[in-house]
Amino acid sequence: MTETRDTVILGSGCAGLTAAIYTARAGLKPLVLEGHEPGGQLSITTLVENFPGWPEGIQGPELIANMKKQAERFGATFQLAHLNAVEVGAHPIRLQTSIGEISAHTLIIASGASARWLGLPSEQALIGHGVSSCATCDGFFFRGKEIAVVGGGDSAMEEALFLTRFASKVTLLHRREQFRASKIMLERAIAHPNIELRTNAVIEEVLGVDEKEVKGVRLRDVVTGNLTDLPLSGLFLGIGHEPNAKMFAGQIDLDEEGYVVTTGNVLTTRNGVVVPGVFACGDVQDRRYRQAITAAGSGCMAALEAEKFLEARGH
Ligand code: NAP
Repeated sequence: MTETRDTVILGSGCAGLTAAIYTARAGLKPLVLEGHEPGGQLSITTLVENFPGWPEGIQGPELIANMKKQAERFGATFQLAHLNAVEVGAHPIRLQTSIGEISAHTLIIASGASARWLGLPSEQALIGHGVSSCATCDGFFFRGKEIAVVGGGDSAMEEALFLTRFASKVTLLHRREQFRASKIMLERAIAHPNIELRTNAVIEEVLGVDEKEVKGVRLRDVVTGNLTDLPLSGLFLGIGHEPNAKMFAGQIDLDEEGYVVTTGNVLTTRNGVVVPGVFACGDVQDRRYRQAITAAGSGCMAALEAEKFLEARGH
């Protein structure tokens, strides 16, 4: 029989790492399963200007590296592994992972959310050949080229602004007239001389599948119905994220978009009844705020709940 861990944390973004700092400092020796995107969304972003404590901002990867160091200092351990299946009704909780079975008295789900795609066959065929969901990873390849970013939220604005460092022109394509982005980010994009905003534009097809590289996009104007081709070398997706919670379907309650439903901030439920010892924090359960600081805050709450849960059971 394998050892039962006090706490296993699923995910190593802002929420998971904060939960790791708190549970490690409480002596619970948490095991953090890093998942398929170690460090989470902050690790693929650039300057974070609104995380309290850094008046000049801090680079996302640096913030994440600092949090990881802090958790390790108190005894958290990290494993590159992903969860295949879980049985939460049983105690201890049994996790089937890519590195074998792990059992735990408490589980903190901090598996975050991953980039969303348009779902067009031409887009899927050209991922890695000019289609990307990560400006910070791939922007470098588009020096002096014309590219587009899809989306109307803060992610799209941030990507478009970042990509102006490399691209000669960035067209921001948004499917309607109103933007979801915050005023400050939208104003920065509008003011940038190398960014052109194009609204009411829906991508019908990414061009270049036969050539195996992005040549442009076919756009439909949702008002007039007109089709036009826009020549491009790259297309970046900035259309939001999907929660990484599919492996919990049937085990804990998920909402209609697949986010983990929580009550009392971080307690999970099954058919509306609280699941003992299983907590969720960060973007996997937050469709409203989705900020680094709110993820960190809920990671702290999940850790404190796990600690209380174990204490009440005499651990
Ligand atoms: P978001 O706010 O949900 O915006 C997603 C955008 O993509 C929306 O404009 C949406 O259009 C569009 N979209 C979604 N599916 C689409 C599809 N299939 N085809 C075309 N367009 C599609 O997501 P986000 O921008 O990733 O932001 C998420 C959260 O993170 C927000 O709270 C944001 O403030 C925060 N964030 C903050 C910063 C920052 O402060 N620096 C940076 C990045 C993110 P509709 O508007 O028509 O729905």
